[in-house]
Amino acid sequence: MAQATVHAPKAKHLIVISYDAFSEDNWETASRLPHFAKLMKRGAYSNRLKSVYPTLTYVVHTTTATGVYPEKHGIHHNNPLQPFVKEEDQRWFWFRKAIKAPTIYDAARAHGLSTAGLLWPVSGKSSIRYNLPEIRALKGENQALKVLRSGSPLYCIRMELKHGRIRKGIAQPYLDDFSTKCAVDTIKRKKPNLLMMHLIDLDDAKHMYGTDSDEVQQVILRMDHRLGEIMQAVEEAGIQDETVIMVLGDHGQFNVRYKVHLNNLLQAKGLIYEENGKMKWRAYFQCGGGSAYLHIRPGDEEAERQALAVIEEELQDEGSMGIESVYTREVLDSLHASPVTRIMLEAKQGYCFDETLGERLIVDLQEQGIRYATHGYSPEKSGYRCNIVIAGKPIKPDYAFGDLEMVDIAPTMAHILGIDFGHADGRVIEEIFKE
Ligand SMILES: [Zn+2]
Repeated sequence: MAQATVHAPKAKHLIVISYDAFSEDNWETASRLPHFAKLMKRGAYSNRLKSVYPTLTYVVHTTTATGVYPEKHGIHHNNPLQPFVKEEDQRWFWFRKAIKAPTIYDAARAHGLSTAGLLWPVSGKSSIRYNLPEIRALKGENQALKVLRSGSPLYCIRMELKHGRIRKGIAQPYLDDFSTKCAVDTIKRKKPNLLMMHLIDLDDAKHMYGTDSDEVQQVILRMDHRLGEIMQAVEEAGIQDETVIMVLGDHGQFNVRYKVHLNNLLQAKGLIYEENGKMKWRAYFQCGGGSAYLHIRPGDEEAERQALAVIEEELQDEGSMGIESVYTREVLDSLHASPVTRIMLEAKQGYCFDETLGERLIVDLQEQGIRYATHGYSPEKSGYRCNIVIAGKPIKPDYAFGDLEMVDIAPTMAHILGIDFGHADGRVIEEIFKE
C-alpha cells in the first residue's frame, strides 16, 4: 500500500550516478570538462562529502541507499567473511536481503514511483522495478545468466540483447559503456522516477595504475562523455525540467607502496594453522585495503588476548607493519562502524592490508615496479573526501556548498522525490534548494 506523501516532490525524476572513487583530488580536472561543468552551472556542488568507515564500495553504497551508518545497515565489507578463500572466488554482499535497514528504492516503490537500478551494489533480488544488479560470476558461472537471475529478468534480457555486445565480461571501459547505454535506453523508454546507477571505471583505473596516473585522467574524460550521454537522454526524453541529476563519489583512493599480509602475524603465533590439510583459525584479519577487521572465534578470549599482544608488539616495533591505529569498540562506535568485530586496524597512508597468507609479511610494490592504489581507510583521513553535484530546476544554480555526509544522501533523495524517509541518520541538505 502506498504511504502518504509528506510533502510535494521537488522533481518527478531523480537520476543518481555513483561515480566510484570520484574524490576531491579529481575535482579540478572534472570541473573543467564540458558536461560536468554544465551540470555544475545548473546545480549545487561540493568536494567535501565525507564517506563512512570503512570506505569500501558496498559499505558506502548501502549507506547511500539507506541514509544510515554501517552500524545499522548490516553491510560491514564488500564480502561476507570467507577465510582462506581467494579474493576472486569470494561471494560479495550481492543481495538486498543482507541490508538491515529501509532503502530509498523500496520507499520509492512503496510510494508508487517507478524505480530502475544499473549495477547498483547490494541490490540483487530487490524491489527495483527495472533492475540489472551488480553481480560477478564466480568460477563456472555465466555472467549474463547470473545477472538476470538476480535482477528483473525481462529487463536484463532486453538490455543484454540490445547493448550486450558492448560488454566484455566485467572489463572496463566496456562495462561502464554498457551501463551508460542501458541508462540512456531506460531513461528514454521507461522514464523511471528513480534511477540509481554505478560506474566503476575510475575505481578500477586507480587500483590498477595509481591515483595520479595518465590512465586516471583518461577515465575522467570518458566519464564526462558518459555523463553527457545521460544528460542528452534526459533532454531527448523531454523530462529535463522535471529531472534532478545527482553525481557523487563513494570514497577516494591512496597510492600504496607496501602491502602487508596481516594474517602472517597470526599464523606465526599459531592462531592460524593447518589441520588435516585444512586451514583453521582462532583469530583472522578480514582485510579491506586501508583497514582490517579482527575476527575472533566466538568465546575464544585467549585468542583475542594473543592477537592483541601481536598487534601491540608490532606497534612497539616502530610501526613497520603500517598499522596507524588500533580501533577498539569505543572508537568504532564513534565512527558508527559495524558491530561485527570489537577491533579494527587502520593502515597508514602508503600501506594496505592484504588478507591472503603471503610468502612474505611485507611486499614492497614500488621495488617490484607495481603501481597500486586502494581505499578502505578512515573517512577522517585528509585528502579523502568525495565530490558531489546535484543539478535540476529545484536546485540553486552554480552554488558551491560545504560539508555533508554520506548519510545525508538518502534523506535528500527522499526530499527531492517527496517521500517520507524519517528514520535516516543524516539530514536533508536543505541549503541546496531554491527558496
Ligand atoms: Zn567504490
